[in-house]
Amino acid sequence: MSQEQAQLDRIRVVLVQPSHPGNVGAAARAMKTMGLSHLVLVAPEGAPHRAPEAVARASGAGDVLAAARVTATLEEALAGVSLAAGASARRRTIPWPTLTAREAGPRLAAHAAGGGEAAVVFGRETSGLTNAELERCHLLLAIPANPEYSSLNLAAAVQVVAYELRLAVLAGEGGLPPAEATDQPPATAEELEGLYAHLERALVALDFLDPDNPRQLMRRLRRLFNRAHPDRMEVNILRGILGAAEAAARRGRGNS
Ligand code: SAH
Repeated sequence: MSQEQAQLDRIRVVLVQPSHPGNVGAAARAMKTMGLSHLVLVAPEGAPHRAPEAVARASGAGDVLAAARVTATLEEALAGVSLAAGASARRRTIPWPTLTAREAGPRLAAHAAGGGEAAVVFGRETSGLTNAELERCHLLLAIPANPEYSSLNLAAAVQVVAYELRLAVLAGEGGLPPAEATDQPPATAEELEGLYAHLERALVALDFLDPDNPRQLMRRLRRLFNRAHPDRMEVNILRGILGAAEAAARRGRGNS
């Protein structure tokens, strides 16, 4: 297998709750034309990838459809992924690091070249991705479309992104960029979710976070850590610190 193909195989396309089988088929075709093959459907209604309309629209990409995985949650779809980009045309409650599809291509390609698993997450035809879903992504990917009418058809958006990924891979984006150089593997989505859950528990225990009035605290902290893109050891260190803080808080309570 060529180096380019190995890189493309480490970039998965995740469709969250797609509702039209035709779009799923067309997305599979868009992927295969650009050499992508790893398709994951999150909580779709029924099995849209098996519907005759999907098979028809996939044309010669029936193999990508047949190999598509279905998961119940986005978390499962991102298992093993250490760089996730959420495709969205909409502005968010708080600004999140956002790249154009052209800028994101080399980032994702370089990540895959360094041996990491990457994902691009696409939203529902009707309502896109929720904030909670986008917060599981390290960065947002936007196709800079007509501001008056910026929402592409799902499969069309997959095509644009897949094309940019292919161009980036063919341009020879290799290895991790120096800014991310580390001797440890980057933390995976599961490891980061474990950190965020621990952080939230600890901040509540330390009376820093009021569960009845959380404001945007966790969202801002997720943005901070996603921007830093910590490696596995850094996540373990942070969790060790949280554990120590929780123990200190328990001891403090015991004394009073
Ligand atoms: N009506 C939805 C858009 C759905 S389009 C909304 O308001 O959010 C389906 C999916 O295609 C989106 O969730 C997104 O993942 C992708 N998409 C469509 N247009 C896009 C654009 N301009 N930039 C990035 N992704 C886009």
